[in-house]
Amino acid sequence: SSATETIRATLFPGDGIGPEIAESVKQVFKTADVPIEWEEHYVGDQVDPRTQSFLTWESLESVRRNRVGLKGPMATPIGKGHRSLNLTLRKELNLYANVRPCYSLPGYKTRYDDVNLITIRENTEGEYSGLEHQVVRGVVESLKIITRQASLRVAEYAFHYAKTHGRERVSAIHKANIMQKTDGLFLKCCREVAEKYPEITYEEVVIDNCCMMLVKNPALFDVLVMPNLYGDIISDLCAGLIGGLGLTPSCNIGEGGIALAEAVHGSAPDIAGKNMANPTALLLSSVSMLRHLNLHDKADRIQDAILNTIAEGKYRTADLGGTSTTTDFTKAICDHL
Ligand code: NAD
Repeated sequence: SSATETIRATLFPGDGIGPEIAESVKQVFKTADVPIEWEEHYVGDQVDPRTQSFLTWESLESVRRNRVGLKGPMATPIGKGHRSLNLTLRKELNLYANVRPCYSLPGYKTRYDDVNLITIRENTEGEYSGLEHQVVRGVVESLKIITRQASLRVAEYAFHYAKTHGRERVSAIHKANIMQKTDGLFLKCCREVAEKYPEITYEEVVIDNCCMMLVKNPALFDVLVMPNLYGDIISDLCAGLIGGLGLTPSCNIGEGGIALAEAVHGSAPDIAGKNMANPTALLLSSVSMLRHLNLHDKADRIQDAILNTIAEGKYRTADLGGTSTTTDFTKAICDHL
């Protein structure tokens, strides 16, 4: 309604299937009368010296100003002299936690009916610090950086999330038996934060055992917090439990309350431009963006329309065994709205 204030949000359609699924979000938001005005930014075709990457300085400024945004997948162009797009975003906007909810979709049958997990991935350091070099011919080294500051920050976020979302347990996932210093420090920080949240059960699970337990019985877990690489792998594993990468959303949380939502999946070059992509993951990411803005009515309406469309089973994309195009599936969601 005209009484509702318009909120500006940044939109990066991204690469590959990105523009197709971003179009789906724009249509659904329009149909649902969401009071959002998108500031669209594309990845540039040359390196911006101010960001040292193909991301423009203006696009980063847009996120800093709006404090909220949605991004499609980005394929980092190959070549020397620039930073990875996703790494630039994470570093420049200080996106320290990546929250990846994963729950069974009613009406879409997989081996499990009761998946309801939140993976919280440390997003700024660990194995993804980008510090690799050759020591001598035939020997290379990659530095895994774990700091007390970043570990405390992500642990604090995980416990706060658990508390404010009615969750009962936080599991820290690690390999501290082998990586005693790095994962050891990560665990120490999780323990320190756990002490401040006596109402939340805290446990530590070794990553290999965690994988086995997740596949055997995902209901054993609630909120999982972990260093960067483990989070990358475990969240794809979790996506597989509920039907694949076409379904799982995420949200990057930055210092000072920035929220940049994105799907877990990449640019899917194998199906790009074919009107085949499942927009659900990006749509559910946009729903989490709306929740961040406290637009819960709109978020509920859109989420229900997505879930009902999938449950009904008439319109499903190929990854879910259907024959619908991205546009047909999107139209079905809009009809549910
Ligand atoms: P991917 O996630 O793009 O694709 C893996 C498989 O899942 C493919 O078979 C793909 O068709 C399928 N898939 C993914 N999303 C889908 C969707 N919405 N609907 C239907 N099927 C879907 O992983 P990849 O092929 O390893 O990576 C491709 C590119 O994406 C790489 O350049 C990579 O760097 C980039 N990437 C970007 C991000 C990001 O921007 N956050 C994340 C992961 C990968």
